Amino acid sequence: MKIAVLPGDGIGTEIVAEAVKVLKVLELPLEMENALVGGAAYEAHGHPLPETTLKLAKESDAILFGAVGDWKYDKLDRPLRPEQAILGLRKNLGLFANFRPAICYEQLVGASSLKPELIAGLDILIIRELTGDIYFGQPRGRRTAVDGHFPGAEEAFDTMRYSKPEIERIAHVAFQAARKRNKKVTSVDKANVLETFQFWKDVVTEVHAQYPDVELQHMYVDNAAMQLVKAPKAFDVVVTGNMFGDILSDEASMLTGSIGMLPSASLNSSNQGLYEPSHGSAPDIAGKGIANPLATILSAAMMLRFSLNQEAAALRIETAVQKVLQQGLRTADIFSEGTTKVSTVQMGDAVVKALG
Ligand code: NAD
Repeated sequence: MKIAVLPGDGIGTEIVAEAVKVLKVLELPLEMENALVGGAAYEAHGHPLPETTLKLAKESDAILFGAVGDWKYDKLDRPLRPEQAILGLRKNLGLFANFRPAICYEQLVGASSLKPELIAGLDILIIRELTGDIYFGQPRGRRTAVDGHFPGAEEAFDTMRYSKPEIERIAHVAFQAARKRNKKVTSVDKANVLETFQFWKDVVTEVHAQYPDVELQHMYVDNAAMQLVKAPKAFDVVVTGNMFGDILSDEASMLTGSIGMLPSASLNSSNQGLYEPSHGSAPDIAGKGIANPLATILSAAMMLRFSLNQEAAALRIETAVQKVLQQGLRTADIFSEGTTKVSTVQMGDAVVKALG
């Protein structure tokens, strides 16, 4: 089982090191190979996604990814910015389905900004379409950009588009995921304003005919943003486009206390996947040894489950994470009175120990 390990920038290197440490003690036949990506790759090779990194990613069964980006690259022309690496990997590997579970661990109920009764027992799954929408449309302005900005320009625009097959395949993923859960899908759109999302709604409704056992609800994105903080437990599976999914999944992540807790998986049609924490490279805390590595460790568990078919090992990691939380160990982002503050490395060590 070959894994491409791409730590990236900022806290990426710190948190991926902890996930690799955990994977190594599982005694599975995992072959792990590191490569540069993002700002680190730009510094070394002049491109955020060098050919060698892309080749390694393509020939691996799964990719364990940290995070990319730093404010110091904001002046770069957009195609050279670190964030383009992740878009390039998604596009080149056809990683169209992004799974972001938002689970509230019992031990962290107090870390959420919402009332405990609203989030205790929360377990929702946001499925975000990842290779279409406005993020992959035609951006106007690239040709005229100077240092990534548009001095003197009068306008800029990006194009929102979705094709029928793109919507169909993500809708199937959502209905199939719901079948294994509470059998309810909320499709989030903006059909009242955007043609693209009226089309989205029509296609999702059409696909739903094949899943009569699953309940389908349509919701406008502004209402969904509101309902997520009002009554989050009313959701089961949420499916939406790339941009709305980007925003709603971050919102959902905060319901659980910290973005440092949330894993994600991005899969293609052959279950090859990229696994990464839902958060970014957190330049504000990079190098301080205080980042929460649990989202990345839990992403490694998702990798074992979805791409490497190692359900038992995945469960072993998830149970170990529960155990360290039960022991009261907390990185700074989830720390509260009465718990023990630990560093990134100490948290990784504790998970290794809890694996038994
Ligand atoms: P961010 O997710 O990096 O950070 C947001 C806030 O959450 C910060 O205060 C940060 O300290 C905190 N945080 C994030 N992860 C944490 C962790 N594991 N433990 C503790 N605290 C954590 O988002 P941002 O600040 O908006 O973006 C920073 C950079 O990351 C930008 O360059 C952005 O483009 C990039 N980014 C990359 C990805 C990716 O690689 N997939 C995703 C989002 C943002």
